[in-house]
Amino acid sequence: MNTSEVHGDILIVDDMPANLRLLAQILTEHGYKVRPVRSGHHALKAAQAAPPDLILLDIVMPDMDGYEVCQHLKADERTRDIPILFISALGETEDKVRAFAAGGVDYVPKPFQPAEVLARVRTHLALRNLTRQLQEANAELARRVQELQERNEELDAFAHTVAHDIKSPLTIIAGYAELLDDGVPESTRKEYLQILRHGANRLVNIVDGLLLLASVRKLEILPEPLDMERIVNDACARLAHVIQEYQAEIVRPPQWPAAVGYAPWVEEVWVNYISNGCKYGGTPPRLELGYSMLGAEAEITFWVRDNGDGISPDDQARLFVPFTRLNQVSVKGHGLGLSIVRRIVEKLGGRVGVESAGVPGEGSLFYFTLPAAPSADNGWVTGSSHRMGMPVP
Ligand code: ADP
Repeated sequence: MNTSEVHGDILIVDDMPANLRLLAQILTEHGYKVRPVRSGHHALKAAQAAPPDLILLDIVMPDMDGYEVCQHLKADERTRDIPILFISALGETEDKVRAFAAGGVDYVPKPFQPAEVLARVRTHLALRNLTRQLQEANAELARRVQELQERNEELDAFAHTVAHDIKSPLTIIAGYAELLDDGVPESTRKEYLQILRHGANRLVNIVDGLLLLASVRKLEILPEPLDMERIVNDACARLAHVIQEYQAEIVRPPQWPAAVGYAPWVEEVWVNYISNGCKYGGTPPRLELGYSMLGAEAEITFWVRDNGDGISPDDQARLFVPFTRLNQVSVKGHGLGLSIVRRIVEKLGGRVGVESAGVPGEGSLFYFTLPAAPSADNGWVTGSSHRMGMPVP
């Protein structure tokens, strides 16, 4: 056997058993996997069940001739790209032209020379392999172009944030630093220092958000069963000053189900939802935290419901997109939070969303889903197997 052969799975279609046997023998001896069939109908069935790498197709056959078989194969997406070599005793130019018109890539006249059949098979298999590699490379290229486009858009939005959101606190800091330099009374100095601190904190928050957004894309983590009670506690502890500032009431379920994820990121998600609930929720904010599980579903939905003005359906479509702040005059945030939430949750195999009628006082329900821990781990972190009686988003 010639080891330089391009091996492949070849379907041979001929109604004459002697021809089938001879072709099968030649090709098998040269290392090809061969499937001989004796009619057009059998050929179509075999090709659809497991598309071969190449088909050797006789033209004159009872029931369905080779041209018709070829047309059927070309009309089916699964078999369209298989190279078809006609083998026929019909020697007229017209027959050959018809074979090519039907979609054949080559024509071998009968009686055939084994060396010629082998040479043509080898060439067309090599071409087929090259075409496949090219198609795969093209698909990969298209995927990368798409990714680059997304990153480009994000970079534009990033530049926009830097230009506007970072510039404004910086301008304030520079201005007040200059005033301080001019010398001011002690009471004013304290006030100015407070403004400087506030501006600097805002900058740190923006930079932290940008770094987190970038790291979620790059970091590869191993999802683990989560202690959700502890994660929510940690998130609330981090937000103690915001909760205190807005006098927010936080209602939590008595226990949490076991989901799978990455604790530091899931904490980040809760921090975003809870701090948004404080900032944009009612006055004072009342936030209800909860979860929903449907039967034995492999997914758990976690949510934060607030009592604020809610979000109109138009605005809902713009949420979770990097650097979107609905109310451009609001200085409460920088529009990074929800895009971080989305990137984290999608990376952990879940989804994010919001439900809101956009009616003041009726608030919004922001949710995220995570895979449930496999049943062996799916004990409840605390308490019994009680399901929250809340609507499922
Ligand atoms: P940030 O809060 O930093 O501006 P986010 O990405 O967290 O950025 O939120 C984007 C925008 O979505 C907010 O500016 C706000 O307009 C709106 N939003 C978020 N959460 C709520 C909520 N619970 N109720 C009403 N509006 C909200």
